[in-house]
Amino acid sequence: MLPRADYHMHSEFSPDARSTMENMGARALAQGLEEIAFTDHLDIHPLDNPSDFYRPDAYFAELARCQKVFAGRLTIRAGIEIGESHRYPERVRPVLGAHRYDFVLGSVHWIGDEMPFGNQYFATHEKHPTFAGYFGEMVEMAASGEFDVVAHLDMPKREGTAVWGPFDPRAYGDEIRQILRRLIDRGKGIEINTSGWRRPNVECCPDPLILAWYHELGGEVLTIGSDAHGPEHVALFRERALDVARAAGLRWLTTFTERRATQHPL
Ligand SMILES: [Zn+2]
Ligand SMILES: [Zn+2]
Repeated sequence: MLPRADYHMHSEFSPDARSTMENMGARALAQGLEEIAFTDHLDIHPLDNPSDFYRPDAYFAELARCQKVFAGRLTIRAGIEIGESHRYPERVRPVLGAHRYDFVLGSVHWIGDEMPFGNQYFATHEKHPTFAGYFGEMVEMAASGEFDVVAHLDMPKREGTAVWGPFDPRAYGDEIRQILRRLIDRGKGIEINTSGWRRPNVECCPDPLILAWYHELGGEVLTIGSDAHGPEHVALFRERALDVARAAGLRWLTTFTERRATQHPL
């Protein structure tokens, strides 16, 4: 049986989310989910504000409490979303070493010293340098970052599409394939991040064509996540993501326990 899982969501332990784990869990149950991962942000870039927000001890204490509250009804995985893990290995290693995470998302949120978020960014930046810079950073992360699954692989399109028009992955085919090859060589997975679908005319992240390339190159590790920062987005578009995964040729949905993958046939 295919697990009804959402492997990307944030609670009050992320600086940009406010909801409690318990509220998010209650919503997950109401949406018919059986497994979720709280992937709260570990942001280390010096301009991340505040860059010392991450509190693993408090996170794990509340996680354990919620695992008891929902025991037998909802499996709750210990996750983390690490930004730019390849740039700060000396900060990442002790965190991952000191705690038993089930699942680690690897993200690129910064292009140099700028974040492709918010109207101000998109009003003052061009499409090409943004995507070239983003994929350039992601090539490095795919090569040496510490994570299990890469998050939102073509994320700048999420807000950029409204300003620049649609994103066509074929314009960056070489860079993206380079990313995918490195992920596959290192046994890393890809996620379908459904948050793009919350915006008009935006695809999921990554684009379905990138998922097809990942499959063609031999990739087999896939998670699906809503990137919910509040209860209203939990589990959103999960069925649609499954359809897209199958259409891309992917054959497995992956869940993680203590960072070991379990494959479920799609
Ligand atoms: Zn992210
Ligand atoms: Zn996230």
